[in-house]
Amino acid sequence: MTAFHEFELIEWIRSQKGMSHTNLLGIGDDTAILQPPAHSELLLATDMLMEGAHFTFPPATPELAGRKALAVNLSDIAAMGGSPHSALVSLALPRSRGSEFAKSVMQGIMELAAEFQTQLAGGDTNSWNGPLVINVAIIGTADQSHSIKRSGAQPGDWIFVTGALGGSLESHHLTFQPRVREAVALMETVTIKSMIDVSDGLASDLQHILVESDVGAVIQSKQIPISPRVSSELTDAERLQKALSDGEDFELLFTVSAEQGQRLRDQNPLSIPLTHIGKITAEQGALLQQTDGSTTPLENTGWKHQL
Ligand code: ADP
Ligand code: MG
Repeated sequence: MTAFHEFELIEWIRSQKGMSHTNLLGIGDDTAILQPPAHSELLLATDMLMEGAHFTFPPATPELAGRKALAVNLSDIAAMGGSPHSALVSLALPRSRGSEFAKSVMQGIMELAAEFQTQLAGGDTNSWNGPLVINVAIIGTADQSHSIKRSGAQPGDWIFVTGALGGSLESHHLTFQPRVREAVALMETVTIKSMIDVSDGLASDLQHILVESDVGAVIQSKQIPISPRVSSELTDAERLQKALSDGEDFELLFTVSAEQGQRLRDQNPLSIPLTHIGKITAEQGALLQQTDGSTTPLENTGWKHQL
């Protein structure tokens, strides 16, 4: 393994072709400079991924670890109904793995950044005798007062989820597509009242919308889109449980008025599945309804981070 040189890596990063916005001065000075676009609000988020906690080698590769670190941040921007603009990347690199490893991590980040028109605005590069840690801070934009919050759900709203749920932990969590384009396409069709990305599992993330909006919900168990990734050897009840509580799907969970919900159900504007799974109620708490009409409390069994 070659010894690791921080400046060499930064020079290499700068030499790579990347997205460049006209209102951003990127890598190379003491800070990046962003001229905020007129009539927009800035969305700021950051997420840190640690080898051993959020990915392991294998099944992750350095490229996929880098990719995931940016993808989870893009997913947060999507969940606010925004467009990603730029990102800052901080690395704690394991010294023993050398500079090719570091370049691979950055390559995974830069490829996904290009795909989502996100400029690498800067970062920090360190090496140590510990495992890989990647922190990404992201900046997105939304039209002034048009960001979508968790707090906007109202009784009578229909609840929708994109894609399919469950079974992500085997490998999908490294390769998922952040639903940035889907959020934009939905916003062009309907007024989204509340939204969140499903990172901890549907049962858990729905709670955030309910608590922030001060409402409840009834979810139809038959309507939950169970991913084909969930093993067919499990019982139906176990498969449903995984779809409700496995984390790291990064699908969008959102609410719209009943009238607009009907429109979405008649014509899905997305190229991925979109499922009406239930509705918002004035009565607090979340219920799971079976086809015979009986209900049970939707247990908040989502993924709990082990800290
Ligand atoms: P300083 O000592 O002023 O913090 P650095 O030597 O840490 O500067 O970084 C030099 C430049 O390279 C800065 O513009 C910084 O944002 C950028 N940079 C450092 N590491 C990364 C990285 N992993 N990805 C993108 N930009 C980086
Ligand atoms: Mg620095």
